[in-house]
Amino acid sequence: FSAAIVGALVALSIIALVLSLVKTEDVTLPPTVKYGMVFDAGSSHTSLFVYEWDSDKKNNTGVVSQSLSCDIQGKGISSYANDPPKAGDSLRECLDKALKIVPAANRRDVPVYLGATAGMRLLREQNSSAADQILAEVAKTMQEYPMAFKGARILTGEEEGAYGWITINYLLDSFTKYSPKAHTWLHPEAANIFGALDLGGASTQISFVPKDSVINWNEASKLTLYGYDYNIYTQSYLCYGQNEMLKRLAKELIAESSSSTRVDHPCYPKDYNETISLSSFHTSPCTNQSDLALGDRNVTLEGRGDASGCLAAIKKLFNFSACGQRQDCTFDGIYQPPVSGQFIAFSAFYYNFKFLNLTEGQSLATVRATIEHFCTRSWADLSSSYPEENPERLPKYCANANYILTLLLDAYKFNETSWNSIFFQMKAGSADIGWTLGYMLNLTNMIPAEAPAQVKGHVP
Ligand code: AMP
Repeated sequence: FSAAIVGALVALSIIALVLSLVKTEDVTLPPTVKYGMVFDAGSSHTSLFVYEWDSDKKNNTGVVSQSLSCDIQGKGISSYANDPPKAGDSLRECLDKALKIVPAANRRDVPVYLGATAGMRLLREQNSSAADQILAEVAKTMQEYPMAFKGARILTGEEEGAYGWITINYLLDSFTKYSPKAHTWLHPEAANIFGALDLGGASTQISFVPKDSVINWNEASKLTLYGYDYNIYTQSYLCYGQNEMLKRLAKELIAESSSSTRVDHPCYPKDYNETISLSSFHTSPCTNQSDLALGDRNVTLEGRGDASGCLAAIKKLFNFSACGQRQDCTFDGIYQPPVSGQFIAFSAFYYNFKFLNLTEGQSLATVRATIEHFCTRSWADLSSSYPEENPERLPKYCANANYILTLLLDAYKFNETSWNSIFFQMKAGSADIGWTLGYMLNLTNMIPAEAPAQVKGHVP
């Protein structure tokens, strides 16, 4: 019997020995890095963003990082309406740069998208065949590159708002967080979800999760991410981007003026003059309504550095009376539930406030006083104080800042208290805040609808 046991033990040891020899070693394979690219074809310029992530990490959040951002020289693609092939050519410098970062073996799998925003929405309204030709030309250029072309299209304003909201909350880990202690994924407090405020050149977007359930849910804003449902309110206002706003302001000032050639501009600095051709108003649907006998003459806008006059003139660009006494209404009779939670204000909200040193959480009173003071400074004072600043941008900060105040306070109805919940920020970690990352995450199915699977941790 004992011989049988010994024999069995010997046999088992031999099997164990053989198995230990056969067993493959645990090797760490180099992580497979994947890439994706998105062009943000904005109204005033185009940028290319390249993202990368480790494809071995499944169901993770926060794993996508930005490997490159490339600004294209010149104006936005909508400015090439008279020469669409140039819109296509303009993309080459950034595509060439982006190609260099991706190892040749992986290039064919790299998805490349182009999303155009309000500049192209306006051009489509004005001249839809020119808009189509531009999209065809940019698509043609993108297809010449050895990557996976995934489309060039115009985003709706609501998509732009919702993807910006996804980007922010993805980058700030608001959707799901891994707890190494519990070896599991946690759903952070709903209160840690951020709203998104985006101010572009031709449109502006607001997106947030309202406190209470709201009427008229737009189906597009019901999202299921990592096992949780989010009902977001998102609204985009075409012609309320800052460049279109400045044009509408100039047009109103000219229309109200008794002089036909020299017009006071309360928001421009004292001693600053700008001559514009009235024909420039015809180029955008935001300013081409025939309520002004425009013609082709030139008008000189003369800066007055009048802070309160500037704020008053800007308020006239909004039809607040269409809301009557309704608090759940921004302007033009547009519904908005009360703002709720914390917000990230990016793009031109950030650029203008950064220039004015107002991104450090200053109180509303300080912000108002700073803007008021800035608006009274003469052109000579400003140009000598900010020699590095782009001379085209410098005279416009007063108007832009007052516009931001009007939009946030009078239209969206932030107040002294909720003002402190707005964070003016352009980056989260090393990634830029904008709609592009959210767009790519969505189209590559990187944000699953289900909660992440429990991660198998090593049990010691
Ligand atoms: P876009 O994203 O192209 O729609 O542009 C957003 C707005 O921000 C436009 O009005 C631009 O002129 C403006 N802008 C872009 N970059 C800067 C900057 N660095 N400083 C100030 N304003 C900027």
